[in-house]
Amino acid sequence: MDKIKKILITPEGRKFYIRDLNSDFHSQFGFVKKADLKKKDGTTVLTNTGREMVVFKPSFIDSYRRIKRDPQIIPLKDIAAIIAETGVDRTSLVVDAGAGSGALCCFLANVAKKVVTYELREDFAATCRQNFEFLGLKNITLKRKNIYEGIDEKNVDLITFDLPEPWMALEHAKKALKIGGFLVSYSPTIPQVADFVNAAVKIEGMMHIKTIEIIEREWEVSDRKVRPRSQMIGHTGFLSFLRRVK
Ligand code: SAH
Repeated sequence: MDKIKKILITPEGRKFYIRDLNSDFHSQFGFVKKADLKKKDGTTVLTNTGREMVVFKPSFIDSYRRIKRDPQIIPLKDIAAIIAETGVDRTSLVVDAGAGSGALCCFLANVAKKVVTYELREDFAATCRQNFEFLGLKNITLKRKNIYEGIDEKNVDLITFDLPEPWMALEHAKKALKIGGFLVSYSPTIPQVADFVNAAVKIEGMMHIKTIEIIEREWEVSDRKVRPRSQMIGHTGFLSFLRRVK
C-alpha cells in the first residue's frame, strides 16, 4: 500500500487521500493538477471545474483511517478510553492480542515506547505488517503465537486483549505485568465479561477497577438545526480494566 502523501478537503469536509504526487488527481469534482498537489499546506487549489479544495499533509489519524481492515477493528472511542484510563505514554511497554487488523496496536504504538502484539493467523499477521509499514511504525513487533500459551515479555506497563476467551491468558498476563500495570480486555458480549472478570479477581494481586461501555452520540450542528444525528452505532464492546497491585 502506497503511503498517503497529501490530503485534499472540500469546504464541506469531504476528504480525498493522495498517494501519488506525480499525476493529476481526478474526482467527481474534477481534477487537480499535480503541481497544485505539491503546494504549501493550507493552499486553496481549484479543480478544472472550479471547485475549491485545500491541500495539506496528512497526520497520523488521516492515514490511520485508511488502514486495511480484515477482522473487525476496535473503534476510536474505545481506544481513547484505554489510553486515557491507563495513562499509557512514550515510556510504556505494551503487549496486545490478538492483533487482528492491527488497529489497536498501531494506535498504541503511536503513543507508547514499544508494542508487542500476538496473532494466531498468518493472513491477519500479513495485514498487520502492511498496516505497520503504511503508517511508518517501527516500534511494533508481531509474534505469530498463541497468547493462551504464554507471554514472553516482563515488566509490562499495559496489556490489551481483544480475544474470544480472554480468561485463558489471565495467568500469563499477571506474570508479565509490572506491579501497577494495567490489563484491559475488550469483549462484545456480557458472558465473556463475566467469565473474564470472575476469573481475574480470583488471581492474587489482580484487582478489577471497572467495566464500562462507551456510547458516542454525534450531533448535527447547522445554523439552528442542532440535534443528535438520527443514526448511531448501538453497540461495539465492553472494556474491563484490571490492575496488578502486587
Ligand atoms: N483489536 C484488533 C482486532 C482483534 S480481532 C484490532 O483493533 O484490529 C481478534 C484477533 O485475535 C483475530 O485476529 C484472531 O485471529 C486473534 N486470536 C484469537 N485467539 C488468539 C490467541 N489465542 N492468540 C493470539 N491471537 C488470537
